[in-house]
Amino acid sequence: MGFESFIGHVGAEHRYYWQVIDLTKYVFITGGVLSGLGKGLVTCSIGKMLEVRGYKITVIKCDPYLNVDAGTMNPYIHGEVFVLDDGYEADMDLGTYERFLEGEFGRDNNATSGQVYQAVIRKEREGGYLGRCVQIIPHVTDEIKRRIRKVATKSGADVVLVEIGGTVGDIEGLPFLEAIRQLSNEEKRGDTILVHLTLVPTLSAVGEPKTKPTQHSVKELRTIGLKPDIIAARTEFGRLDTEHRRKIADTCSVEERAVFSSINVPILYELPIELEEQGMGAVITEYLGLNGTKPDWTEWKKMVSTYKDPTDVVKIAMCGKYAELADCYVSVNEALRHSAAKAGCRVQINWIETEVFEEDIHKAEVLADYDGVLVPGGFGLRGAEGKIIAINYARRQDVPFLGICYGFQLATVEFARHVAGLEGSHSTECVPEAPHPVIDLLPEQKAISVMGGTMRLGANDVEVEAGSLAERLYGSTEIKERHRHRWEVNAEYYERLEKAGAKYTAVSKEKKLKEILELPDKYFFMGTQFHPEFKSRPWAPSPPYYGFVKAAYDKKMGKPKPEF
Ligand code: GLN
Repeated sequence: MGFESFIGHVGAEHRYYWQVIDLTKYVFITGGVLSGLGKGLVTCSIGKMLEVRGYKITVIKCDPYLNVDAGTMNPYIHGEVFVLDDGYEADMDLGTYERFLEGEFGRDNNATSGQVYQAVIRKEREGGYLGRCVQIIPHVTDEIKRRIRKVATKSGADVVLVEIGGTVGDIEGLPFLEAIRQLSNEEKRGDTILVHLTLVPTLSAVGEPKTKPTQHSVKELRTIGLKPDIIAARTEFGRLDTEHRRKIADTCSVEERAVFSSINVPILYELPIELEEQGMGAVITEYLGLNGTKPDWTEWKKMVSTYKDPTDVVKIAMCGKYAELADCYVSVNEALRHSAAKAGCRVQINWIETEVFEEDIHKAEVLADYDGVLVPGGFGLRGAEGKIIAINYARRQDVPFLGICYGFQLATVEFARHVAGLEGSHSTECVPEAPHPVIDLLPEQKAISVMGGTMRLGANDVEVEAGSLAERLYGSTEIKERHRHRWEVNAEYYERLEKAGAKYTAVSKEKKLKEILELPDKYFFMGTQFHPEFKSRPWAPSPPYYGFVKAAYDKKMGKPKPEF
């Protein structure tokens, strides 16, 4: 809540002096011992605890890697690339933030070392530091602080959560940790707190939680001048008992009531409630001097309960190649779960290796065990034919189908080949000389050779045909969805595809590119050029995903095709 406050007028000119009083509070979140402890989730939980008390919050994720953004990183190794409304290709933590917190984020909510160094070096070349030797301290740390404060000012948030990626002790994270040390020192006492997430392992042979790694990681923090106010201990076996919390408190110089356990929760969205029950919300607000408002968890708890009640299971086949199995479809999985909660069922998501269908088409029969077939986004020739076989199976057997981006494009290829009679149809991404290039590069992509941030990215306006399934699902003819692609349906084939029965029921507002494919005589068959999963929220599931899961559930239950 940075705001200007009148502090008086001085002198004969009656000039008013205004001073910017910065009332923003900061919560820094660091991680120790090892990565993958769920720092993003703890950050979101803290944000939620503040939001349910009526505070406006924002988040900035600091990523110590040298990539300018996550767009050029292999998602099969580093996890999903999450696309924001403004087209920024972010680390997948930004996706977690959007699924937990109010509002949407943009490129300012992520600061990578790549961006920071790029800005400093650019300024140096422009003569911005003329005469000075440009150094990590103060120039790089100043640039980091500038980015953190910019988010604070632009958002007008009461509290800014600053999550530092990586693990304390990593060389590359040092400038960020030094920057938050300086920032804490520059801000008023009590306006900043540091939450440190560590691991408290329990070895089965010993059976006792071990606090030593936590002690060491706090020691590591202290050597760089940081001291945690709160410790969140990741545990595998439930909440830590008083004895262990006291031990951490004594050895790490925090209050015992400021040691919390980040436990395994069956549903991610339960973590904020769990930490609230342990008292974390009360301690954080007390430490930050945010007094008063009582938390109101009514809505959040209602939402979480919709995940717990259902018992019927709908089996979804996620079709791809092994290499894609990792963390790279988090948003797709979450969108399916959001939709299942709304439809009153649970989803079981199984990865189906479609490359093996290419050797033996009969292997596609495994899909008979599933209630829905989903082909998500992807790139490149390898595995594409297997995905086309899966789509062909779903279409012929009338298994509810959803195709996302590449899945939409390959559904167009499948339809072109087997329904429109355009033999040899393909995407030029796979076969540049295809006899029928039904999917071709976007014209503006043809001259692009630079990789980073150059796809068709971010939220674009889409016009949906009145009366279509898509319109019924969205409840609107005007929607905005996020994109990340270079290829599109080739305009030269619109007529032939549509004549054969493909219904493209949505186009981009600006260039009239095809955005949604429907086959209305099927139980449920839809493909989207955009990625609706990026905008799916636990309290507002993405409409195409909801339609797909609901149809899969209804069909399994022997119900007539849902009308929506
Ligand atoms: N490879 C396709 C394209 O670039 C699809 C991209 C995707 O699925 N995100 O157009």
